[in-house]
Amino acid sequence: RRVEVPVSEHGIDPGLVDDRAVKVVTTLQDAGFEAYIVGGAVRDLLLGHRPKDFDVATNATPEQVKSHFRRAFIIGRRFRIVHVVHGRGREHEVIEVSTFRAKPDASAAEQVSGNEKTSKAALQGKSHVVDAEGRVLRDNVWGPQIDDAARRDFTVNALYYDPRGQIVVDYHNGIADAKKRVLRMIGEPEARYREDPVRIIRVVRFAAKLGFEIEPATRAPIIRMADLLANVPASRLFDEMIKLLQTGHSLASLEELRKQGLHRGVFPILDAVLDDAHRHDGREKFIQMALADTDRRVNEGKPVAPSFMLACMLWHDVIRRRDDLRHKGEPPMQALQLAIDSVFDARIGDISGRGKLAADMREIWMMQPRFERRTPSGAQTLIEQPRFRAGFDFLRLRADAGEVEDALAGWWEDYSLADDTEREDLLEQAR
Ligand code: ATP
Ligand code: MG
Repeated sequence: RRVEVPVSEHGIDPGLVDDRAVKVVTTLQDAGFEAYIVGGAVRDLLLGHRPKDFDVATNATPEQVKSHFRRAFIIGRRFRIVHVVHGRGREHEVIEVSTFRAKPDASAAEQVSGNEKTSKAALQGKSHVVDAEGRVLRDNVWGPQIDDAARRDFTVNALYYDPRGQIVVDYHNGIADAKKRVLRMIGEPEARYREDPVRIIRVVRFAAKLGFEIEPATRAPIIRMADLLANVPASRLFDEMIKLLQTGHSLASLEELRKQGLHRGVFPILDAVLDDAHRHDGREKFIQMALADTDRRVNEGKPVAPSFMLACMLWHDVIRRRDDLRHKGEPPMQALQLAIDSVFDARIGDISGRGKLAADMREIWMMQPRFERRTPSGAQTLIEQPRFRAGFDFLRLRADAGEVEDALAGWWEDYSLADDTEREDLLEQAR
């Protein structure tokens, strides 16, 4: 049932709404379409937070949306959407506009089986495709708003805000759930997890980020369904994991994963972190400190680089492999290089399209042994590296975790701030 909730009830502060998102909505409305701010932004507005990004939903097709904006790009295959871009360079902002989707209808969906799963031919020209486990592979059938609401994940994520009329459209009692602070899956939870197992991770992420309870029926199937995550492409899991780590509540999210019994096998990368066997060794401490530091930065509004976080998560894996290779007689730098290659293979899988991220991680790791050799030319080239700061921050964390001497991190701190004569003294001391 469609309920239109007035501002007197939802209380959204228009001052928290991004002007450019409003502009996108009103442009589409003026062209005769329905358009709303949707999803996480409405949820955050309801809770009185300023959303970090805005999504818009409309009954205009991607082509129609594109035609109404100067800089708009249709992107995605599995899920076609339009990026409307405002501003340039570092200041630019993207509003994601998606067309109302029809409810996936199992009988109408084209089923592709087993080895056909990934073949191009099987996907060609079909707009709604599921695999043998019921996972939706393509979802581009347009439908009315009521269907669009039903295929969203949680009731608090299925709200539509019209900034002009200041109305929230609520089909699933999302406003009531936001007030009760609960995450409730729309529809039958087990079927919804089956459709898209990533929802298992999403519910954990939102619980940690919002401090909401997971409603019992939504919680119950999680542990049973977790194996389905194995069917999700590594790149999608990877994206979800980065989001989870950037909520500003990464420690809480990992604790929640553990609480839900999801501490193994979900993210190959996190196995190393969440596995109880490592709770008390140095690895756990290092990662805990790294995550606490990440959360602090996010909550102070500072940026966190995914490359830095991932370099932290995988560091002990790198060290372990490097030490194995050293025992087999590889020279030190070579051993480190090879260890890094094998960690990328084992933990991230296909890193195509993530070249920059992987290169940054490699650089942070490769700098570490160089911090321990304090020669005049070595020190100078190291601090002139563009990524010196990231490498140094990493060293600092290692020192905080007791992995290297505190004095070493202190020395580099001094050296980076010193003038030429002071630097000579410092190098003299380090001999
Ligand atoms: P965040 O603030 O972390 O970005 P969000 O709710 O905006 O949270 P997004 O991943 O940006 O999350 O997705 C936007 C909206 O799209 C969601 O609020 C939800 O309505 C819908 N959505 C996203 N992913 C899924 C999914 N896997 N299944 C169903 N609906 C989804
Ligand atoms: Mg979002």
